[in-house]
Amino acid sequence: MSKTFRRRKTHPVHIGHVTIGGDNPVAVQSMTNTKTMDTEASVAQILSLAEAGADIVRLTAQTSDHARNLGTIREKVRQAGCEVPLVADIHFNPAAAFVAAENVEKVRINPGNFVDPGRTFVKLEFTDDEYAAELERLRQSFVPLLDLCRSRGVALRIGVNHGSLSDRIMSRYGDTPAGMVESAMEFLRVCMSENFTDVVISIKASNVVVMTETVRLLCDAMAAEGMDFPLHLGVTEAGDGEDGRIKSAVGIGSLLADGIGDTIRVSLSEAPENEIPVARRILRHIELLSKEEAQGVVDITEGRDAEPVPLVTGFENVPEGLSSIRVTYPADLTADEVQIAASIDLGSRLLERPYGSVEIVAPSLTAEECRKLALDILQATRRRISKTEYIACPGCGRTLFDLHTTLSRVKESTAQLKGLKIGVMGCIVNGPGEMADADYGYVGAGPGRVSIYRGKECVYKNIPTDEALPMLLKLIANDGRLPE
Ligand code: SF4
Repeated sequence: MSKTFRRRKTHPVHIGHVTIGGDNPVAVQSMTNTKTMDTEASVAQILSLAEAGADIVRLTAQTSDHARNLGTIREKVRQAGCEVPLVADIHFNPAAAFVAAENVEKVRINPGNFVDPGRTFVKLEFTDDEYAAELERLRQSFVPLLDLCRSRGVALRIGVNHGSLSDRIMSRYGDTPAGMVESAMEFLRVCMSENFTDVVISIKASNVVVMTETVRLLCDAMAAEGMDFPLHLGVTEAGDGEDGRIKSAVGIGSLLADGIGDTIRVSLSEAPENEIPVARRILRHIELLSKEEAQGVVDITEGRDAEPVPLVTGFENVPEGLSSIRVTYPADLTADEVQIAASIDLGSRLLERPYGSVEIVAPSLTAEECRKLALDILQATRRRISKTEYIACPGCGRTLFDLHTTLSRVKESTAQLKGLKIGVMGCIVNGPGEMADADYGYVGAGPGRVSIYRGKECVYKNIPTDEALPMLLKLIANDGRLPE
């Protein structure tokens, strides 16, 4: 069974020499994890990302000084002969967005905290008049940025994240797919009324099911209002290693396979250069699926009369009425390629409906590796939970600890806690909101300091780093959630 490939129609948006949307190839993005004030390190990482194949690179700009330094960084990158367009990532600081628009090709704002100070929970009831007044306030702050971007030929990304919505949106919609979509639409309507269309839109979540559902809802909402803005796809806080790759491939690949998406970022809690080959592998598989020859590469057996599958990873006995699904890959596909291909081929179908059994056949993997990959894809699509899930940010210039080492330590100590979701987030500014539905969180609070969360509640605040992991384990134990 193959999918029908018809790419969602979008208008082109120019970001330096790269064009996103229209009939242009899907662009691959990444983000630096250096300090933006460290010009030398940031320039070196941008060059290294461009060398690895990134089409566009984003940097965090937490203050106007950081945004200003992007100009120096950009100049040095250009002096090195590299034309890769740069994007400023702005949260909680509209003034920095204005400075950034003078210094880079694109500015990303988060509608949840551009005008609104992030969730305060102070006011959770809004009358219709108060709601309208809030929207007018948003408009007054946002239109001058659109005017500046227009005058400088700078594009915008409106980037909504699950877990960082304004009080206004929370009051009406809660932290739901509908709320995330409305959060984007509020800003897009202002863009439309100002005739500013150099906008790319993204809606990200760490939960792949939420992410794909919300992006589809957004497409419907835009179509209903006559909008065709290009889409940036990504699964936030996907973590590292195989989990990060599988979650990203399931989320991004499922949408691309349905013709949705104009630019992508695979977020990994690793060196950002590692993100690029994964993104390219996803695009290669999508390209392959769109061709006739895909029939010979991907063999999917589904339907009630499917052959019984010898390796059953979904359930031990296929329940009445559920189908089996098997994907078969040729021997010349490497293990890394099979990981991405199966994540897309199985993941896209598992997101649509449950199956009674799942099987991967691939000569480049052992039977046990095939079974484990199938279980990981089932976990990413939340069809079967078989291990602890980690929600870890990719790190950026705000990160307060060594993310990779910390995540490894947390994983080592908690891997036995099947069914729990644990967040490991590099900073307090975005971390608590964006770890979304994690049961527990380990969040950078300051240099050498960590805060430990139970859901959204900060239980241990600002504790020294070397006490943080024992305190996290103590909290989980006190909650009775350590295995007997
Ligand atoms: S949560 Fe992580 S990636 Fe997001 S802003 Fe903080 S340190 Fe950067």
